[in-house]
Amino acid sequence: MPGAYLIFGPPGAGKGTQAPRLAERLAIPHISTGDILRANVKGGTPLGVEAKGYMDAGDLVPDELVVRMLGDRLAEPDAVTGFLLDGFPRNVAQADALDAMLAERGSPLDCVLVLDVSEEEVVKRISGRLTAQNGRVYHELYDPPQTPGVDDEEGLPLIRRPDDEPDVVRNRYRNVYLAQTLPVREHYSRAGVREVEIDGIGTTDEVAARIDAALPA
Ligand code: AMP
Repeated sequence: MPGAYLIFGPPGAGKGTQAPRLAERLAIPHISTGDILRANVKGGTPLGVEAKGYMDAGDLVPDELVVRMLGDRLAEPDAVTGFLLDGFPRNVAQADALDAMLAERGSPLDCVLVLDVSEEEVVKRISGRLTAQNGRVYHELYDPPQTPGVDDEEGLPLIRRPDDEPDVVRNRYRNVYLAQTLPVREHYSRAGVREVEIDGIGTTDEVAARIDAALPA
């Protein structure tokens, strides 16, 4: 039975790698607000133009913009019976907005999947992270592409996201994740939403195996 899932963790925890695999296995859409925002930046839409400065600095895009964008996405037909949210909610105000949207649909959040990794590990991972335009993520050391600098499947060039630069990573971790996003976990645990915590240290396949064991389809 599909359901409403949320994948939670600091930047660099592996959400962008694990979420598409999990969503495919559960046959629900993977909804990443970061991916939707990046597509808007790339397409030069008014939303993208407004969001770009915040994103490059590692700051949150204003709630009003992101909440509206997510509401539109959740209203699409493929999200009716379930979805896996990645990168939303990033603060308690967004969690409140999500709760209101889900209450209207009559289907509360079923599960929060927490990917657990330390700050030290996050900085190490992000500094080697390379991203293709299609959103696929590699790592120079841990998950290199077959040909350096080139995406395996579509041959697209790999780039370092501006928000993966070290100073920006520290801002994203301390001022954004610890200060604003971590309280979202508390928000859902207080609400009694099922939480599944996964050790995010290990290879992509090892972490995926832990997730599969904890969340059988
Ligand atoms: P991500 O790919 O999830 O790491 O998101 C990349 C960037 O997009 C973040 O650093 C924020 O600037 C922006 N962003 C993504 N999701 C949200 C959100 N729910 N609220 C505000 N900003 C967001």
